[in-house]
Amino acid sequence: MIFNYYMPTKVIFGEDKFFELKSFIENKKFLVISENFLEKIGITKYFSENFENNYYLFDDVKPNPPSDMVDKAADFARMNNIEIIIGLGGGSALDTAKAVACMLDKENSIVDYLNGDVSFSERKVKLIAIPTTSGTGSEVTNVGVYTDITISEKKPLVSQYFWPDIAIVDPKLTYSMPPRVTAVTGLDALTHAIESYWALGTQTISETLALETIKLIFEYLPKAFDNPNDQTAREKMSLASLMAGMAFSQTRTTAAHAISYPLTNIYNIEHGLACALTLPSLIKYTYEPIKEKMDKLVKYLEMNNIEDLSNKIETMMKNFNLSIKLKDYGIKEEEIEKIADISMKAAIINLLPKKIEKENLLKLLKSIL
Ligand code: NAD
Repeated sequence: MIFNYYMPTKVIFGEDKFFELKSFIENKKFLVISENFLEKIGITKYFSENFENNYYLFDDVKPNPPSDMVDKAADFARMNNIEIIIGLGGGSALDTAKAVACMLDKENSIVDYLNGDVSFSERKVKLIAIPTTSGTGSEVTNVGVYTDITISEKKPLVSQYFWPDIAIVDPKLTYSMPPRVTAVTGLDALTHAIESYWALGTQTISETLALETIKLIFEYLPKAFDNPNDQTAREKMSLASLMAGMAFSQTRTTAAHAISYPLTNIYNIEHGLACALTLPSLIKYTYEPIKEKMDKLVKYLEMNNIEDLSNKIETMMKNFNLSIKLKDYGIKEEEIEKIADISMKAAIINLLPKKIEKENLLKLLKSIL
């Protein structure tokens, strides 16, 4: 057996662990990159009571980080000679923080990096990631996803400088997620785990993480959806999201993520939902060459077969009041070809263990229209 496993991020997990943040600041100037919801998650007071002149806040993060917003956050950091960057929020805030931390001492726009004109070089500031959703696992990945508004395209960037130095995962910060955000972010974690499990680059550690993550999500995501204050469910979902991140950071994701980019970009479908829409069909499509492995997963989940797994996801989505049909998101039959063309351009589509051609993709998309 030969494999590599690399995880340079120090993870601090547990209820109220957020309040240990001060011990990592060392009186340095720090910038919190977030959204305007610190009051809602009950932490505004912590900043005002614990920090004075060294605390800066950029609370204007937008979903699927648009390039102009990332540039604005980077300018704000440059202007204030920031020494530590903290991403606090969902994947959008964490990804923005990753880019800003790497762009701080450069003049470039994020668009230059998305174009491939320049690549990130060594980051000069500490990067701390604090998730408030349980879905992306961005706190433990070397990935950031951004929308280039000049060409209306959402793209992932991978950089060794994107690994946060510290991830503080405090499940209490996720309690305020409304049910729909809980559902779609949880589905993102589920997609990470399943895609990592079957990705061509799968290896024994990521596979073990993925197996347990999938089990946790089936048990606890419905509970977190039904009762936002279910302490155990919130904790298990934070753990599942973290473990799914640790798994896919080693393997990357595959076709469900590739297809999610146009679904989000053109139809504004939330990221996790955009990923989950094709997952049940992809499970059936991908089964043949990895039967043994998928049967092991099905057995681990105490299900009978691959159809059970696929149906379980669809049922869960329906229970979350999420349609499993593309037409309900405004997608018309004549637009399927464009979605397929954009998806086929994403390199990760080739990481699926069963080769997928445009015709296969068109058939799959039509089956869920
Ligand atoms: P998000 O960050 O866009 O946030 C979604 C919504 O949830 C926002 O309206 C936000 O205000 C709200 N929200 C977040 N936390 C909340 C809380 N505790 N209480 C109330 N509301 C809250 O959504 P996301 O799903 O976390 O992140 C999606 C983004 O992350 C996408 O751009 C996706 O491509 C990217 N992503 C990145 C990675 C990675 O490894 N870097 C992995 C997966 C996804």
